[in-house]
Amino acid sequence: MAAHTRYTGLIEHYRDRLPVSDSTRLISLGEGNTPLIQLHNIPKLIGKDVTIYVKFEGLNPTGSFKDRGMTMAVTKAVEAGSQAIICASTGNTSAAAAAYAVRAGIKAFVLIPEGKIALGKLAQTLMYGAQIIQINGNFDAGMSLVKQVADHAPVTIVNSINPYRLEGQKTAAFEIVDELGTAPDYHCLPVGNAGNITAYWKGYSEYATDSATHKAVTNKRPVMCGYQAAGAAPFVVGKMVDNPETIATAIRIGHPQSWDLAWKVQDESKGWFDSQTDEQILVAQKMLSQHEGIFCEPASAASLSGALQDIASGKIPEGSTIVCTLTGNGIKDPDIAIAQCKDAHPVTIDASLDAVKRAILDNM
Ligand SMILES: *Cc1c(COP(=O)(O)O)cnc(C)c1O
Repeated sequence: MAAHTRYTGLIEHYRDRLPVSDSTRLISLGEGNTPLIQLHNIPKLIGKDVTIYVKFEGLNPTGSFKDRGMTMAVTKAVEAGSQAIICASTGNTSAAAAAYAVRAGIKAFVLIPEGKIALGKLAQTLMYGAQIIQINGNFDAGMSLVKQVADHAPVTIVNSINPYRLEGQKTAAFEIVDELGTAPDYHCLPVGNAGNITAYWKGYSEYATDSATHKAVTNKRPVMCGYQAAGAAPFVVGKMVDNPETIATAIRIGHPQSWDLAWKVQDESKGWFDSQTDEQILVAQKMLSQHEGIFCEPASAASLSGALQDIASGKIPEGSTIVCTLTGNGIKDPDIAIAQCKDAHPVTIDASLDAVKRAILDNM
């Protein structure tokens, strides 16, 4: 019998592949180890012979993959003696930074675009007690300010330009290979700053180059497919976008911070970037909820939306194994969800057995 082991987060689990020592104090909330769920109904629905898994990162402690990077970035900030962290955010980075700062006992400052952050993310950041700084500007403006102010104040930047963020995030690729025993043929992701697609590629590449030391016997790496929102698609347009717009606020980014790195991922993996309209993104989000029971936030659904488009066209051929990362939890953005379901018909009845019976029989 194996000894009882309690999962205590991704740094502990992949300690030999991350920049920590025995004396490093780990700042963790048990992030990582998220489910890789095989879609059963959607492949039938589209009538294609494909195997699709979703890596549901919405089940991390603050509800997005940002926790993977934040455990590492805050651990290293604390190790270096930092008393405060700062980030620009479309919402999820601020929630994660706020939570891990509390855990570490340090201060978090977050710059968010006023009025453009999903309600759940704002609630989280408020509850964790971060110092919120709302700016009259978008994420890109906030990011530019954060980079400047870090030279003038004693704060550590925990955006994905902090290299420890990508170190933490690469572990999602390790988990996938550990579970499947090999890499998938295609890996599909939503792309904003392009830190995550870069981190996954780093993870797959590290496992592939020393396959002898991990469980899987493979040096395979997937084709990386990055999908942006049509109104915020600098990688598709081929240049920075100044006024990005999309309902998928987590990827409402026009000046990606990992620009060069992500182009390298595309080259090395023989992958591609494409865009999805807001309508397509919302259709995929609802499809996941109503056919698979998986509720992700709009930005996350860009991965599946893009995959379905490329499966339909044959660009991703039948017989392929595909992983789509669902980056964040649907509960974070209740406004969009409720607006999407305005045609749902909740019934209101008297509180009597008869009325409940009727409501059931009428709606079978
Ligand atoms: C941050 C985020 C993204 C974009 O990730 P990048 O690393 O910036 O490309 C996508 N979806 C969600 C839910 C996010 O929070």
